[in-house]
Amino acid sequence: MANVAHVDYYEVLSVSKDCDEQELKTAYRKLAMRYHPDRNPDNPEAEERFKQASEAYQVLSDPQKRAAYDRYGVAGVNGGTGAGGFPGGVDLGDIFGDFFGEMFNVAGGRSGRASRAQRGRDIRYDLTIEFEEAVFGKETTVSIKRMDVCAECRGSGAAHGKSASTCQQCGGRGQVRFQQGFFSIARTCPICSGTGQVVIEPCRTCHGEARVEREHTVHVKIPAGVEDGTRIRYQGEGDAGRYGGNAGDLYVVLAVKPHAYFERDGHDLHFAVIISFPQAALGAEIAIQTLEGETTLKIPEGTQSGKEFRLRGKGVPYLNERGRGDLIVQAVVETPKKLTKAQREVIQQLGATLGVENRVASRGLLDKMKDLFN
Ligand SMILES: [Zn+2]
Ligand SMILES: [Zn+2]
Repeated sequence: MANVAHVDYYEVLSVSKDCDEQELKTAYRKLAMRYHPDRNPDNPEAEERFKQASEAYQVLSDPQKRAAYDRYGVAGVNGGTGAGGFPGGVDLGDIFGDFFGEMFNVAGGRSGRASRAQRGRDIRYDLTIEFEEAVFGKETTVSIKRMDVCAECRGSGAAHGKSASTCQQCGGRGQVRFQQGFFSIARTCPICSGTGQVVIEPCRTCHGEARVEREHTVHVKIPAGVEDGTRIRYQGEGDAGRYGGNAGDLYVVLAVKPHAYFERDGHDLHFAVIISFPQAALGAEIAIQTLEGETTLKIPEGTQSGKEFRLRGKGVPYLNERGRGDLIVQAVVETPKKLTKAQREVIQQLGATLGVENRVASRGLLDKMKDLFN
């Protein structure tokens, strides 16, 4: 009782008697951060300083109480009882809330201990591959930057030998509550940022973040038959989680380069080959490209321009399945240009023997052929 009366609140906060509200707040915050029990476990002296600072701030931040204190001292604000004790627990939410800009939450719902674990972020990696690589598959490596659990503190965020301790401000719940008019307001605990735990001395490697950024080489296996835009998921290869949370995933997103002459339609491949009129009329064996190299295609005699030949199993493999699509080759008959005199005469003779009979052809076929010559 006697010693309480001697306490000078201005001295406790190291402020002048005419300091304003902002100076008070700043001074109190500094002391509260320094002497907070979370930062000074098992330190009764610090706890006492913390209590004194809280008490001083509670009085001086209230204009009425401050006026009474200025006039009558501690007795004036304690109704003359001289008890002057620490009122069980000063609500710090208000002052810290202002400092940390926390959002207000309507009370309710959350109780018990805060779940500290945070899942890591997913990472997207864009990978451009060749047309053939999409068809036949490929194994490669990609280099990604991601957050790893800090090896120094093993993800605790605390300096060597120390560990995170239960936040005393919120009792590990991650939220603090107080009365605001008719409402009981809960807000994210400003001391532990809602994690329910505080790190007293942060790890020097990760500065208390519990994670560090590292470059990683990830082995990527592209299965045969993938398409442009295919996403390959590597579970757990994203950013590490914090405080025991799961790691995010890595998504490798494929962009397939177009091919010079193959066009892909699902599992089938299309391309067109130009043949001469004599080849079309008389038949021929021509060399054509497949994805696996050259092969021979037999053009039967009397082949019409636009005719399609299907080479079974020479297309794109089914993704994660047996079997392949087809290679479809379209023969396009080229009309000769710039004829020599001798060639012209031969064709004239041919024309005379064939005669002329123009019939209606379907439009679809003509359009198709027009495209091919462009
Ligand atoms: Zn807390
Ligand atoms: Zn660390």
